Amino acid sequence: MENACLPIGPAASPLLSVVVPAYNEEAVLATFHARLAAVFDTLSDYRCEVIYVNDGSRDGTQRIIDDLCARDGRAASVDLSRNFGKEIAMTAGLDHATGDWIVMIDADLQDPPELIPDMLAKAAEGFDTVFARRTHRDGESALKKATAAAFYRVMDQLSGKVKIPRDTGDFRLMSRRAVDALLKLREQHRFMKGLFAWVGFPSVALDYRRDPRAAGDTKFNYWKLWNFALEGITSFTIGPLKIATYMGLLTAAFAFLDGLWIIGKTLFMGEAVRGYPTLMVTMLFLGGVQLFFIGVIGEYLGRIFDETKGRPLYFAQGWKPARNHGHRSSE
Ligand code: UDP
Ligand code: MG
Repeated sequence: MENACLPIGPAASPLLSVVVPAYNEEAVLATFHARLAAVFDTLSDYRCEVIYVNDGSRDGTQRIIDDLCARDGRAASVDLSRNFGKEIAMTAGLDHATGDWIVMIDADLQDPPELIPDMLAKAAEGFDTVFARRTHRDGESALKKATAAAFYRVMDQLSGKVKIPRDTGDFRLMSRRAVDALLKLREQHRFMKGLFAWVGFPSVALDYRRDPRAAGDTKFNYWKLWNFALEGITSFTIGPLKIATYMGLLTAAFAFLDGLWIIGKTLFMGEAVRGYPTLMVTMLFLGGVQLFFIGVIGEYLGRIFDETKGRPLYFAQGWKPARNHGHRSSE
């Protein structure tokens, strides 16, 4: 088991694959590659490759990736047939990565590639996953920080056995066996942070400072983040459905007691017909609660619908493997 991560050939040094999802990142890719290549050059004990996944960009991202592949034999490219979203783009990259160690990193240089050697060193201590934990989030608004914090708190409360580490993004190093395990999970709704946590294996955090985006714009807005949070919650817990059950029980118990009280009052004290406001308030409240939880059930039902179709996760219209894991081929 322990040898599972070692290369096949006795002479070959382990292969490091870096997976980079890119959606409209033409402004930053060249800089990113330069910084990553500099890191690769320092890793003399490893063969290296970087897999750029073009997630259906509408700008010149693919052209720049082709260019990088032509100039540097360590670069590979997966060109998806349309925009599938970061989670699926990452999965596409992982599917094509053959490394003994695999790093997932954003293209916008918010995750510093210079951290990779530290991650490898940490992994050598016997960990399958080294996830980067953000100590600072420079350049992100107070509202984004606050919503992120609230999200982790809710997830913590709801998710039970699978602990999702706080303040970690997708930036991480994983061993071959952890990635193989992860790739067995082919669900359509891919909440990656949760999937990483679900597969288990020894893992450890490495603290770093998250930089602001180097160039270009964030692809996330609050509506997307809200949906992302919904995704996280509904793919990982049925907590909200349980809340519905208990809310229902509580309301029923309350209604029963209230009923007793009303019957008693009518019998012993008589009842002049009044109480329109009470009726309205109760009806509206119950109607609201019911609609809300029908919505919650709908969220789960919709996900069941999506999963039962059993569609492939993505289609790629192009795949160019790395030509050379060792060196820059042009020089
Ligand atoms: N990304 C992607 N597909 C998308 C949206 C984003 O592949 O539909 C990539 C993007 O190119 C970047 C990473 O995911 O490499 C993180 O995106 P972004 O920086 O916009 O997110 P943020 O850091 O603001 O959360
Ligand atoms: Mg970013």
